[in-house]
Amino acid sequence: MDKKEKVVIIGGGIAGLSAGIYALKAGFDAEIYEKNAIPGGECIGWNRKGYHIDNCIHWLTGTKKGTDLYEVWKATGALTDETEYAKLDSFYTSTYDGKSVTLWNDLEKTQKELIAASPEDEEEIKKFIQYVEYSKQCLFPADKPMEMWKIADYISVGKNMADFPKVLKEFGKISLEEYSKRFRSPLLRKMICDYLPKEYCAYSFLVSYATMADGNGGIPMGASLQMSLRMEKKFKEMGGKIFYNAGVEKIVVENRKATGLQLENGSFVQADLMIPTLDTYPLFHKLLPASYMPAELKKAYSDEKAYPVTSGFQIAFAVSTSFNRGETIFIDIDELKVGKRTADRMYVKAYGYDPIFVKDGKQVIQTCITQSDDDFDYWKRLPEEEYRAAKEKLVEEISVRIETAFPELKGDLEFLDCWTPLTYERYCNAYHGSYMSFVTTPFGKQLKMKGKLKGIDNLYLAGQWTNSPGGLPVAVASGKFAVQRILKARRKDINI
Ligand SMILES: Cc1cc2nc3c(=O)[nH]c(=O)nc-3n(C[C@H](O)[C@H](O)[C@H](O)COP(=O)(O)OP(=O)(O)OC[C@H]3O[C@@H](n4cnc5c(N)ncnc54)[C@H](O)[C@@H]3O)c2cc1C
Repeated sequence: MDKKEKVVIIGGGIAGLSAGIYALKAGFDAEIYEKNAIPGGECIGWNRKGYHIDNCIHWLTGTKKGTDLYEVWKATGALTDETEYAKLDSFYTSTYDGKSVTLWNDLEKTQKELIAASPEDEEEIKKFIQYVEYSKQCLFPADKPMEMWKIADYISVGKNMADFPKVLKEFGKISLEEYSKRFRSPLLRKMICDYLPKEYCAYSFLVSYATMADGNGGIPMGASLQMSLRMEKKFKEMGGKIFYNAGVEKIVVENRKATGLQLENGSFVQADLMIPTLDTYPLFHKLLPASYMPAELKKAYSDEKAYPVTSGFQIAFAVSTSFNRGETIFIDIDELKVGKRTADRMYVKAYGYDPIFVKDGKQVIQTCITQSDDDFDYWKRLPEEEYRAAKEKLVEEISVRIETAFPELKGDLEFLDCWTPLTYERYCNAYHGSYMSFVTTPFGKQLKMKGKLKGIDNLYLAGQWTNSPGGLPVAVASGKFAVQRILKARRKDINI
């Protein structure tokens, strides 16, 4: 029997695990090399003082049975037909000046509530709800990469997404901040800009809300790390090998072929085929010479205004389970300097919906203040002592703001942990601490890379940076697509 070809994958995040599983399904041997001690990359959680802190899934696109993406989550062991989801009935609540509105999963209920809060915005509210309804048609195509679509695929997607072009036309080229100005109510303006960074294209927000409202964005019970571990288990059960604490120093290229990996510990790993899934910045600045970087990526890295990234200053506390103001609630705060920006809004997310975040009558709550490229520079330049002091000061200032907004939490906040954009750089080699790919703004183009590099024939890119704005669906599908591209190049059946 012929020896199987070996696919070597860099990174044991969601894209790497997916690539590994699909490579095995396609009949290859597969090995994953991961710099950390556990799988998951950005999709993880950790324990502090006996509490579990989750740091990923706010919504998992593709939890609706019958969608392409659901099949991919199932094939990779992330979800099963028996998976239970958090029973949440809203996306989030925004408060301002003593009033609040909630974006319910039930769109009719939301419409009524928004009109009651701001009758003068009735027309714009109805339009918003209508366009969220249209946005439910925007399903992530995860069957095969777009360059492999046939006419029938375009016809079928076109039919199923008949109204979605209206959303792109109306909201594809304006930022959330601009969109918010169509509403007269200050509360509704805040609501529009609360969830995603205000530079995001408005349609991203509509699609996010539609995903929740359509039951296609559930949160699997058991948290993010557990989902990554399920994928790792599947990979190993299928015969895959995963190596931890195995940072990759360099990809060795000889005669247009990636022949192997040079690990940080000095050893060499031979490869027949290679799928790097790590962040593309370290990929093209450390593992490979920058000359291999595709032009669209070069352009994106050189224009932070059109292609910003998003990260966060985040804190987790434990508080009594009696705290119950809705799962995610945005509040107005006294202005606060975080990194280079001044924040006047923040959220509190309560995790009591899943027993994994509850211990001895207390639940985890978290908050996150958005950070971007400039803020990353701020944190990066601080000497170690000042970095630590800046974090401590912010924890104090944010605690005061939480207690002011929620007096029932006075004296109840038990600090668990806080982390910054530098944490993401340290843990995942993430560019500017970003945990997604480039933000889709009205000034930039959405990145859609085909995963091939000029000059290396057996290397296929995967990972969230191949398709902005990234996220879990992009990551998991990119692993599958990389293997399908390998199969296509070998003229084999791509239906895996
Ligand atoms: C707070 C937070 C909330 C989020 N919420 C959501 C959400 O609700 N929904 C959603 O869809 N997405 C969400 N995301 C984004 C999601 O986590 C990411 O899009 C996804 O996990 C990216 O997967 P990936 O495999 O492409 O990349 P990564 O997770 O970055 O995986 C790359 C892996 O490569 C490893 N690596 C890097 N360099 C090397 C090297 N030199 N050698 C070996 N290994 C290396 C890294 O350690 C990492 O494990 C969130 C992320 C965060 C942090």
